[in-house]
This record gives sequence, structure tokens and C-alpha cells, in this order.
Amino acid sequence: MIKYEPVIGMEIHVELKTKSKMFCACANNPDETQPNQNICPICMGNPGTLPVANKKAIEDTIKTALALNCKIAKHSKFDRKNYFYPDLPKGYQISQYDMPLSEGGFLEFNGKKINITRIHLEEDTGKLIHPKETDYSLVDLNRAGTPLMELVTEPEIKSAQEAKEFCRQLQLIVKYLGVSDANMEKGHMRCEANISIKPVWQKEFGTKVEIKNLNSFKAVERSIEYEIKRQSEALDDKEEIAQETRGWNADNQETYSQRKKEEAHDYRYFPEPDLPPIDLTKKAGLFDIEKIKESIPELPLFKKNRFINQYKLSEENARIFSEDKELANYFEQIVSELREWGNSKRIDGNLIDKLTKLTANYILTELQRLLYKNDDTVSCCKITAENFAEFITLIQEGKISSSGAQTLLFEMYKTGGDPSNILDEKSLGQVSNESEIEKLVYKIIKNNQKSVEDYKNGKEVALKFLIGQSMKESNGKANPRVVEEILKKKLG
Ligand code: ADP
Ligand code: MG
Ligand code: ZN
Repeated sequence: MIKYEPVIGMEIHVELKTKSKMFCACANNPDETQPNQNICPICMGNPGTLPVANKKAIEDTIKTALALNCKIAKHSKFDRKNYFYPDLPKGYQISQYDMPLSEGGFLEFNGKKINITRIHLEEDTGKLIHPKETDYSLVDLNRAGTPLMELVTEPEIKSAQEAKEFCRQLQLIVKYLGVSDANMEKGHMRCEANISIKPVWQKEFGTKVEIKNLNSFKAVERSIEYEIKRQSEALDDKEEIAQETRGWNADNQETYSQRKKEEAHDYRYFPEPDLPPIDLTKKAGLFDIEKIKESIPELPLFKKNRFINQYKLSEENARIFSEDKELANYFEQIVSELREWGNSKRIDGNLIDKLTKLTANYILTELQRLLYKNDDTVSCCKITAENFAEFITLIQEGKISSSGAQTLLFEMYKTGGDPSNILDEKSLGQVSNESEIEKLVYKIIKNNQKSVEDYKNGKEVALKFLIGQSMKESNGKANPRVVEEILKKKLG
């Protein structure tokens, strides 16, 4: 049996969420449901119209390129990619051929770097609609001319799982940067995978197959797995791999041939004559690359490492926060409130670390569950950071039991109320006051002499019984830790 090694390169398209389209003033609204609302002679490709490039789209592409460690070109230009298809009204797509906006970057995840060949800018096409049981198709040009960023990786991804993770990380980054919503279901982000396999000892790559239009992470992973298996079996059978474009059939979980190499297009690229070349030098003064660089927020990998170092969170919790910017901000606001409270009360740093971890746990379990159940996001959560911090201090000070804490958090979530107020109103408070608990313990000792004897004779379970009786007597309000301490002292 020959052992094969897969080689994978990704091509990913991301729609930018600029206000207007790439080359005209039409609204760029991917949520428009009425067809052909946001169209004009330019994006309909009427003869005699002239495109004007969207500056913000170029800036957003540069921003993404910088975040992915790419080199920004000094000079760039747009080119025409000619082909006929009914969703492409001009008969060509304005894209970038040999002078892309950026080249040579990388994306780092799970301790590995995947090199990025280039990131360039082009325009999206319209959409065809095929009404059922009719013999015609309809064209919706709302999407035609939407700014579309394309990223190409080097052929160095090693597995289906790694390809999926690359796409996931890229989605996360463009969302962090705010340049796209990158929703795959809605088609904001679309992936193509190039796959070849080769015997492990062979240096040269095998013939690649391209799988088009992968619109979910699952499709990326499954289609690549399928292709690796199909190509391995073909090579085992001494068949040649055809260089071709394949589609993914999610129903059958299979790829299928769409177009062989012989049928490949000749796009007859040439420089777009209606748009001036893009001068990105400082001297030209059109784009302020430094300023764009400064606008890049802290990125997920950096945030994850910072959360581990600064807040002593587990790798897993830090990762979850790093993948949800809003939730991470919320957590940091609460921790800052907690630290202020800790400073004012001269509380020991180790304890603050403990409370920080407790905060992370409450957010990632109880709060997340409430948000999920109510289909809410943290941005509409009624619990202020200040109140959340107070909630944590109430737990720390033993003013509430852990079961009481759940009820309290739920009430805070529902009403946005102050935790101390809710504690009183709903009498959820826990009694930790020693003299009060002493009174309670005296009573229990007096009424349970038999158990007291048993305990003194070495029966440990009798203590559990006495704690239980104390808790019952207090309607569950007594702090069990304090009850146990005082019981032991009195009985000793
Ligand atoms: P094309 O000209 O067919 O578009 P490119 O060289 O531009 O091919 O590469 C397109 C994508 O295919 C890139 O992501 C690249 O990493 C990947 N790729 C190129 N050669 C191979 C190969 N032999 N196996 C797998 N992926 C490849
Ligand atoms: Mg290609
Ligand atoms: Zn338009």
C-alpha cells in the first residue's frame, strides 16, 4: 500500500461590507430581498458608463492584508477578466491580475503558519434565479458590483481539518476587523479548495483538483476528505488524476466533475482602461498605510495569549474569549471593576486572580446558557459590568450560596437589577454571620443529643446529619461552611 500525502491550497472570497458598491454609488446591501433595487447603469454594465473605485473597499483590503502580515504593493491596478455568463452584465469582471494590492503574508493558528500568496480586490457578480417548473431564468443584479476580496494561500495546508481551521480563523479575523460579516450561509464568505496528493517520498506535487463554492466549514472539511480518498483510490488503481474543477454535492456528500482542464477559460486579462492605476506610495498621498495599520484592533491570537498571561485563564477559556470580541470586552470590564473593588479593600492579588477565574467561569457557563436560551447576545445583556462584579463579590463574601447565586444571576439577567437589592427582595441571602449561626447551632445541639453522643464516639456521619439539620432549620440560608466550622468547635 502506497502512503499518500495531501497538499491543499485555498482560495477564499469575502464580500466587504462597505456602504456603497465597488465602482458605483449604489447601496451595498446583501440583505435586500427585492430584486434589482440597488442597481444603476454602471453596475448594470450599460455602454458608455465609467466606474470609479471605492476608496473604503481598497482601505479595507489593505487593513486585512496588514492584519495577515502581507506586504502592501506600492503600485497596483485593476484588470478585466473576460467571460460570458448571464449574471455578469458587462461581459467581464473587474479584478486584479498581475499587480494585486498585497502579496506574501501568513496566518498563524494552533502554533502553525500558513503562507498567503496574495490578497486582491474585485467585484462580485449578480445572481441567477431559476423559478421551478418554468423554462426561463431571472437575473437579480443587487449583488453585481459588490466589493469582493480574494485571498489565495500557498499549497501547504496538510489536512481537511487544517483547511477548515484556516477558514474559521480567517472568518474570525475579518469579523474582528469589521470589514465583513463573513457569514458563510449568506454567501458573504465563499471557499474553494485545491487538492492534490502525492506519494510521501515524491517531491513534486500531484495534479490538483479544484472544488468550487464551498459555503460552510463542514463542506470545506468533508469535500476535502472525500477528494483525498477519491484521489488515493484512483492512484492505487494506477489511474491518472484529471486536472479539473469539481462541485460539492452536500446531499450525497460527494464531489462531482464540472469542467475539465481542456474546457478551461481563457480570460484574456488586460488592464482596465477606465480606471487609473492605484498609487499606494506615501508620496502620492492617496492612502495612509500607517493610519490603516493603527486602526487594526488586537487580533484573536494576541488576545488569547494576553488572557492567559494577564488573567491566568486556562488555554481553553482564553480561546473561547478570543473568538468572541464582545464577550471578551464584557469580561474585561467586569474584571476592571473587580480590581477596583479589590484595591479599595486592599484585597490580596491571589484572591483577585481567583475571582477573575470565577468571573470567567460564570460568564462561560451560566451567562452563556442564559444568552443562548434567550437567543440574546452579550451586547443586549441587561447586567452591567458593575453589577456582575458585585455579584462575584457577594459570592466571595459568602453572602449567597451557589444555588442562590444561580437564581440571583437569572433575576439580574431578567430585570437588569442591582444584585444586593434582589438579594434582599427575594431573600436569597446566605447567613454567614457567626453569632447568628452560633444561636442556630446551639439549638440543633440541644435537640439532637443522640447524634452529638454518636459524633463524640467517633461516628463522622453524625456531623453530616447535624449540618443537614442546621441547614434545614435555617431554610437553606445558613452558610454550610460556617455551620460546619462552628459545629466542630462546639462539639470539640
Ligand atoms: P491556477 O492558475 O489554476 O488558479 P494557482 O497556481 O494560481 O493555480 O493556484 C491556485 C490555488 O491552488 C492556490 O491556492 C495554490 O496554493 C493551489 N495549488 C497550486 N498547485 C497545487 C497543487 N499541486 N496541489 C494543491 N494545491 C495547489
Ligand atoms: Mg484560481
Ligand atoms: Zn450601481
